Amino acid sequence: MKADKDSRRHQVVRTILIRFLRDKDYCPSCEYTDIDYTLLFRTAGANKVEHALLHMLQCRTCRKRIYPGFLKRLTQLDFRLRALSLLRQAELKKLNMVLFYHHIRTVLFKDYPGRLRVGGDIDILISTDNLRRLSPVLLQEGYTKTERVAYKEHQFISPRNRFKIDAHHLIAYPQYGELDRDELCAVRRYTQDLLYTTGTSFGITHMTRERYIFTRFFHYWYNDMLCGLYPLFELCAFCYRYRRRIRWNEVLRLADEYAMRNEFIYVLLIGENMFDIPLPDPIRHGLSFRIRLVASAITADDIIFFPPISRWHHKQYRTVAHGKYLRYLFTKLLLNTRTPPLRLLRFRIIGFVLRGLLLCAVRRLTLKKEGNKQKKFSDHPVQ
Ligand SMILES: [Zn+2]
Repeated sequence: MKADKDSRRHQVVRTILIRFLRDKDYCPSCEYTDIDYTLLFRTAGANKVEHALLHMLQCRTCRKRIYPGFLKRLTQLDFRLRALSLLRQAELKKLNMVLFYHHIRTVLFKDYPGRLRVGGDIDILISTDNLRRLSPVLLQEGYTKTERVAYKEHQFISPRNRFKIDAHHLIAYPQYGELDRDELCAVRRYTQDLLYTTGTSFGITHMTRERYIFTRFFHYWYNDMLCGLYPLFELCAFCYRYRRRIRWNEVLRLADEYAMRNEFIYVLLIGENMFDIPLPDPIRHGLSFRIRLVASAITADDIIFFPPISRWHHKQYRTVAHGKYLRYLFTKLLLNTRTPPLRLLRFRIIGFVLRGLLLCAVRRLTLKKEGNKQKKFSDHPVQ
């Protein structure tokens, strides 16, 4: 019974978050009486869609239902998001001036003018040569450098408002060794390509719409491994919003250049299925049977909801993470046009498949029985 209740709690939270993103006027209080607000807040945070919860702060019906502690959290969240947005604008201006003065070229990464930006930092993409020059310049301007993982981004803290600036030298990082050599080469090549074509002037440069779409997709595919609600939503919503002004030929050319046309269309298709955002016509024409088949077998719901990737290695999430990672690997293999079927026979993948099948079988068996074991599986499947 507990297992059913638990999965229902999670399902309710997921449905509410998706509906919030789909429809601004959606009110969950008319539909559900048993919302787990703590879980809702946590899931929204992990999937970077906290802003979607602000409906509950403004809606009278919702305000009557939620408990005072949650109302306080929402008020704080509202304040924090507003403050971050103002700080970001001020900091971006100042940083641009500093970089311009010192003749450093960077590309604004993960942002597009006029789009909502989640997260409390400014992400810039910079070449390794410029990165070496950036450090002394920012330190001289009063910024402090934080200790981060050496191969990942370098983080600086602004002296004025403690705002964070992340300087990336790659579009995606092989976080858990999931990128093979070819993929890592593609990531390096695209990073250089982006810096070369976009970062042409001093200071901070914005990407074109086409580059923004492809970069978002690339990052979502290789860095986030299809996890998180917000990147998928932003990608689909952006494509829909500017569908008439986007040069789709250019986007598809980029996708072809990196042999990722299937993957790109697949991501937009699972986004359409999840958020009801119609696919742009040029993309719909490119839908093949293979993509449709994979999208119906591996849906967004199977992959994208998850705690942040930084927690994947935690013991309690490890099994679920393996399941998600397995699906991601499979999706990759099924969509990649260059994948010879023999590659499916790698030991690591066979291990994952066997493990996944075994877990499914065990879970099915235990779900049939009543009692303690059932509870254990739904909470944290197999420790
Ligand atoms: Zn409401």
